[in-house]
Amino acid sequence: MKIDPKTLEKWDKEYFWHPFTQMKVYREEDNLIFERGEGVYLWDIYGRKYIDAISSLWCNVHGHNHPKLNRAVEEQLKKVAHTTTLGSSNVPAILLAKKLVDISPEGLNKVFYCEDGAEAVEIALKMAYHYWRNRGEDRKVFITLSEAYHGDTIGAVSVGGIDLFHGTYRDLLFETIRLPSPYLYCKKEHGGLSETCTADLLFKLEDLLRARRDVVAVVLESGIQAAAGMLPYPPGFMKGVRELTKRFGTLLIVDEVATGFGRTGTMFYCEQEGITPDFMCLGKGITGGYLPLAATLTTDEVFDAFLGEFGEAKHFYHGHTYTGNNLACAVSLANLEVFEEEKTLEKLKPKIKLLEERLKEFWELEHVGDVRQLGFMAGIELVKDKEKGEPFPYGERTGFKVAMKCRERGVFLRPLGDVMVLMMPLVISEEDINFVLDTLKWAIGELTR
Ligand SMILES: *Cc1c(COP(=O)(O)O)cnc(C)c1O
Repeated sequence: MKIDPKTLEKWDKEYFWHPFTQMKVYREEDNLIFERGEGVYLWDIYGRKYIDAISSLWCNVHGHNHPKLNRAVEEQLKKVAHTTTLGSSNVPAILLAKKLVDISPEGLNKVFYCEDGAEAVEIALKMAYHYWRNRGEDRKVFITLSEAYHGDTIGAVSVGGIDLFHGTYRDLLFETIRLPSPYLYCKKEHGGLSETCTADLLFKLEDLLRARRDVVAVVLESGIQAAAGMLPYPPGFMKGVRELTKRFGTLLIVDEVATGFGRTGTMFYCEQEGITPDFMCLGKGITGGYLPLAATLTTDEVFDAFLGEFGEAKHFYHGHTYTGNNLACAVSLANLEVFEEEKTLEKLKPKIKLLEERLKEFWELEHVGDVRQLGFMAGIELVKDKEKGEPFPYGERTGFKVAMKCRERGVFLRPLGDVMVLMMPLVISEEDINFVLDTLKWAIGELTR
């Protein structure tokens, strides 16, 4: 049965409550309803074509409808779609665990699966807390960063620091100690990202770690606070945090949900800082944007603290119904194979350069207040008054309006407030990168007309 577009639009507004969406406004607007995809392109129910310039919320890697990824799902489907991993196992989950250990920073030897990035963080938090308990230590406090985003479940929100998203739930959350957002702090106190700022931030952390011996873990995103509007860290910051957490005997949880799987130019951003965290949280790109899957990688040391006789009840009492789902793991394996077969990271290098070059042009625009980039991730911040750095009023939805303009010319974007986010699938061609940037530049220029 084929339902006509008008009915679909009606039912969408009537029955479907969308995430991160003001439904009153959504219901008054024309919305995109996607029907199919191919490579970096998406088509809506009217047959209009768009470039998916946000990788379907930062998860698509090798393009939509990829023959190899399709085949991986189809072949697994012929065997079995799902079997439980609570006390039993399945073939693709085993193969993927080994593969993830092989490609991740040295020392991360254990893989715990779940379905979404928030859960991967939630698991790291619980594991870290439980680790100290199993070692006979009662530790409670997490050190986090302002402007952090780790997902929307209560634990992940507790370690988050975006007041607009998280403030409402304050009474439900556990307490954390927050350091300033590195980017905002460096800009304010040091006029930009620099090694002096790195040192300054690390002194703050050192003071904290010296004063508090009950720190469960330091929790941070890898390399960039993406959801806060693409705020990169100063160079060496994560390396310094790793050294301090080691020196003061606490754990480090690194959230690579946004940055993992090539987004910053290397498979994981941790590689660029040359560090191995105690926990690395993965999601988004892990299945190339095909199926919900996430993972928390950890060390043998953490794993071993949970070993004991059954009666000791030291094990990790946590699991989800679909943990290690067969289909998701099968497509994730294929996703990683495509990285090798298509030399994705090698081909990405010139694209990152092109993006960097072309982003320079945006500084000239009247309403652009800042331009930020880490690898293939970028944010262009719109401001009302460039001289004063004055933002547009929140209710005006300026970023959204610019995104709507882009949509007219076939580029699909979803901004973060007034930050225009570019998170293109890694497979995108230089021609399409140029088209996306031309379109965005034109759309931002329209604000002045
Ligand atoms: C998206 C994101 C999450 C949450 O992942 P979900 O799959 O949406 O739950 C966590 N951390 C970071 C850094 C993210 O970008």
